[in-house]
Amino acid sequence: MKPNDILYTTALDQNGKIIHVNNAEKGSKYYCPLCKNEFILRKSGKSGKGSRRPHFAHNELTPNCTPEGVLHYSFKKMLISLLEKYKNENISLIMSWKCSSCEHTNSVILLQRVASIKEEFNLGVCRPDIALLDETGKVIAVIEIVVSHSPEEYALDYYKENKIVLIQINLETEDELLMVEEKMCKPSIVEFCINPNCNAYVLYEVRRKIIYETAVCSNRLHIMKKCFIGVESVFGRQKSMEFIDDEIEEAKSNGVNMIVNKNATIPKFICIQCQRYRGQFNHSRRF
Ligand SMILES: [Zn+2]
Ligand SMILES: [Zn+2]
Ligand SMILES: [Zn+2]
Repeated sequence: MKPNDILYTTALDQNGKIIHVNNAEKGSKYYCPLCKNEFILRKSGKSGKGSRRPHFAHNELTPNCTPEGVLHYSFKKMLISLLEKYKNENISLIMSWKCSSCEHTNSVILLQRVASIKEEFNLGVCRPDIALLDETGKVIAVIEIVVSHSPEEYALDYYKENKIVLIQINLETEDELLMVEEKMCKPSIVEFCINPNCNAYVLYEVRRKIIYETAVCSNRLHIMKKCFIGVESVFGRQKSMEFIDDEIEEAKSNGVNMIVNKNATIPKFICIQCQRYRGQFNHSRRF
């Protein structure tokens, strides 16, 4: 979709609440979220060739207000409400993405360490759309919503220098206003990575540690040793089952019997004793 195909699909209702055109009704008053001028609802009810999608239009010509600007503004407001809700209700928001430098698929629990969410927070050199702050008031990450303007180079440099993780959400159509959560869970760019072989790992001070635990083997006969990677970063603590070669070696030398198949990243832990007696036990048998 070309930028000039974007329509106004959100408005403020009489209570100042952002409303999507799908939920708008003829006869109610609506206002532009950005310039606050009056909107008229264009909803013909007809569909098919030649009829435009339902949208709002300014009642009077407003030269400095654009649909892209409103898309940006409304998405930002809706995303802030969503993040506030998740934070207040303590719901985990898992954000996943593929690292642009190393292709590693990452996921983090976005709000684990977040104490406050600020709109247009003043960082001196720039004001990111949304800033996520920890309890000491330090900015952990910023969310930039991009419709037509990518963040400036000096802002990107500032984020890197201050180890602030950039999360970028690119928007192309106004339909993405109906997918705020999906866009947050799968952003376009995240400058952060938990793969120790990646540059971003060093830059953002991620720490990894093998954590050992004991478990009963799948035949429920023996105690065996298992492990996982404890990852600590600005996003808090998380568990990872993706080991790099050095970590597999280290775990093995500490008595963990594990194999990682070439095409699978998640290892299998094998009971040393059952393996020796393989064939004598029916695997579906329960004890
Ligand atoms: Zn306007
Ligand atoms: Zn990476
Ligand atoms: Zn066993």
